[in-house]
Amino acid sequence: MSAASFERGYNALKAQIDAPIASYFQSCVHCGICASACLFYEETKDPKYTPIHKLEPMRKVWEQEYTLWGRLMSAVGLRKKLTDDELAEWQELIYNSCTLCGRCSLVCPVGNDIVYMVRRIREGMVAAGHAPEGLIGASKRAVTIGSPMGVRLPALEAQIKRLEKSTDLKINMDKSDVDYLVLLSSMEIMNFPEYLEAIARIMRHAGKSWTLSSKAFEATNSGIQIGSFDIAKELVSRVVNAAEELRVKTVISPECGHAYTAIRWEGPNLMGRPFKFKVQHILEVLDDLREQGLLKTEGFAEGRMTFHDPCQLVRRGGVEEPPRRLMNMVVKDFVEMPDAGKWNWCCGGGGGVSSNEDAEELRTKAFKIKVDQIKPLKVDKLVTACANCRIIFEEGLEAYQMEDLPVIGLTEMLAEHLVETKGESA
Ligand code: SF4
Ligand code: SF4
Repeated sequence: MSAASFERGYNALKAQIDAPIASYFQSCVHCGICASACLFYEETKDPKYTPIHKLEPMRKVWEQEYTLWGRLMSAVGLRKKLTDDELAEWQELIYNSCTLCGRCSLVCPVGNDIVYMVRRIREGMVAAGHAPEGLIGASKRAVTIGSPMGVRLPALEAQIKRLEKSTDLKINMDKSDVDYLVLLSSMEIMNFPEYLEAIARIMRHAGKSWTLSSKAFEATNSGIQIGSFDIAKELVSRVVNAAEELRVKTVISPECGHAYTAIRWEGPNLMGRPFKFKVQHILEVLDDLREQGLLKTEGFAEGRMTFHDPCQLVRRGGVEEPPRRLMNMVVKDFVEMPDAGKWNWCCGGGGGVSSNEDAEELRTKAFKIKVDQIKPLKVDKLVTACANCRIIFEEGLEAYQMEDLPVIGLTEMLAEHLVETKGESA
């Protein structure tokens, strides 16, 4: 790594240190409570995975640049300066062992938002050239192709064609003045096309107008995951422009946790202005439809089921009750996981970890936390509301010889139980 890129990274790290970050470092009492909240520490017991330790390079810059003590110590040569080797060493901790799940931020007794800090340190890591190849590739594809997985519009159009041919459903593209603009994740287009069918059925059932956008169908935001404000803003602006051009009332974030964080919570900050439309996660939309009497179901799904709360949805987004109300509509034998709701443990694949091949071994090790939660429940199915969680579960369950446990999406399960109403039309 060249001295120039280290300097760029150092300066980027320095520029990221704002008042909240300075106060977080200042107020940390080194209690270590955040360690036991982190799945990577819990499953390895390796102290390097203590959340606050993952931020050590940034703490060093803060101390060196912004504290009198740090400056004095550096001046007399009693503090070693941050080096490029340290940044290279920390890449694993900052990217492989953090899903931005937010559990550590929730337990910290002094209120340190460690997720905020990890997001910021990643900006410096990118500038210094220390980001994982997998995430760099996903970000490049997101900017140039419009999808981190390289899914182009013709692939989506082919899915739509297949769906319209095999059902009586109609999918609108670029229709203006509708109730909803539906976003998808590439994972749904490629791995779970049944999600799109479920949306089409539910919208028709509820009598709501909706569309996809040919200019912005992808919801995931690799810029947030890798730590690049510019990429994150570019990806959010595509959705915002499409939604505003089409004059939609609400943008629906799909079954994807990070997409929801990106467009709902980070979006207006990235754009520097409020949106002219509302943003809701699909589960919030479904719960609203339920409350308005527009989502009518019949019968119950067979078997005992549990629900995995996607971290970004429940912990960072506060969407805790809607999935439970929706589950209870169609599941009689619904059993909660231990630590359900805002205390739920992450699947281990969020925050870009799933796009990062280097993280696979650690992520599989950390998945044991989910195995230990699920096994005693003796469930027949696991339900969730995030395509990324779903893939991580499928892979994790296979690694622990539990591949017989089906993992399904809540939206699809509801669509299977819709009451057929007379005169339903697209
Ligand atoms: S829980 Fe908070 S105060 Fe305690 S070590 Fe972690 S960041 Fe510091
Ligand atoms: S955000 Fe989650 S994964 Fe990252 S350090 Fe905190 S607890 Fe660990």
